[in-house]
Amino acid sequence: MTRIDLPLQPNGTKVQWSYLPRQFNEQSIEQILDRLRAFVPSGDFTLGKPVREFEERFARLIGARHATGVNSGTDALKLSLKALGVGPGDEVITAANTFIATIGAIAENFARPVLVDCTDNFCMDVSKVEAAITPRTKAIMPVHLAGQMTDMPALMEIAARHKLPVIEDSCQCILGAIEARNAGTYGLAGGFSLHPLKNLNVWGDGGVIVTNDDDFAVKLRRLRNHGLADRDSVVMLGCNSRLDSLQAVIGNWLIDQVDFITTTRIKNAAYLDDALGKLPQIRLPQRYNNRRLVFHLYIVFAERRDELLAHCRKAGVEAKVHYPVPVYRQEGLRQFGYRQGDFPVTDRHADTMISLPAHEHLTAEQLAYMVQTVAEFYES
Ligand SMILES: *Cc1c(COP(=O)(O)O)cnc(C)c1O
Repeated sequence: MTRIDLPLQPNGTKVQWSYLPRQFNEQSIEQILDRLRAFVPSGDFTLGKPVREFEERFARLIGARHATGVNSGTDALKLSLKALGVGPGDEVITAANTFIATIGAIAENFARPVLVDCTDNFCMDVSKVEAAITPRTKAIMPVHLAGQMTDMPALMEIAARHKLPVIEDSCQCILGAIEARNAGTYGLAGGFSLHPLKNLNVWGDGGVIVTNDDDFAVKLRRLRNHGLADRDSVVMLGCNSRLDSLQAVIGNWLIDQVDFITTTRIKNAAYLDDALGKLPQIRLPQRYNNRRLVFHLYIVFAERRDELLAHCRKAGVEAKVHYPVPVYRQEGLRQFGYRQGDFPVTDRHADTMISLPAHEHLTAEQLAYMVQTVAEFYES
């Protein structure tokens, strides 16, 4: 096999983590600016027509009755818990390996995050949930990390038995599914992020909450807009967490591409699985026949992970780790009293996992170059 080499990209790498410069190239920037130019004279900047259009299209995309646009994925989670009445003294059960925003959304409602260790698919180990339930438990918040899926059928069964609402952190899992039922539609509500590095992204922050519950949707709409039921009636205390109309214009431009983005990531992941799975030093996470994993992150377990990471970076492959220090061990969470070793699977993952780019703008040469880079590391 001939060795592949690639030219350096403008940022000095050969396989870039970020797809943003490709997604927003000269041509697409012009298209979007045209849309913004057409929109701005309307002055419809807050909860304007583009927001309503985006919400309708997002709800249809996910297969939910309602979608509510908010300021960020973090707010999508925070407001969902607030709508449930989560407050001081309450506990919310979530996964030990997650992005800090999940924990932050719980803590901002003055509740305690009760963590549960993960399985080898990076999501909450549902068999450990029941032991974490106490009389103070107010909700369960599974996290579909990396575009994997929590075992939702099993979790919903437990939640129903204990009469606990489930809010899905689907920020990394747009269009992920089990048995054709999408992430975000199993629980009472699902939160999504439109952050620039999420699979459906805008030009800044944004988030969406989906729900099939009519009353819950009304509550969310009020909470994101100061608790206003109409211009002059404050029916509850809310906040300002509206999805910007300008961001909704970008979202409406991109939303038709989400299917392509998703299927391309799945295809890239299958290629990497096939090639990397042959290396004895690499172990693939669990894959499932009845699940659609959308690979927001493509993660494998690697021997000598730190050395491999350094080798990849030296070769121009922007590999990363999600996350090198699990949230429960972070200084900012000291108040909750967790200790190193409380979540052994999460700890083991933190030491062995590596994330490789798998986004929709990678070329076949870049994918092959990544495989070559990893294989050469173990051969040498
Ligand atoms: C990105 C992310 C969030 C928060 O989304 P923002 O839009 O950045 O606020 C929450 N949870 C998880 C798992 C995420 O990856």
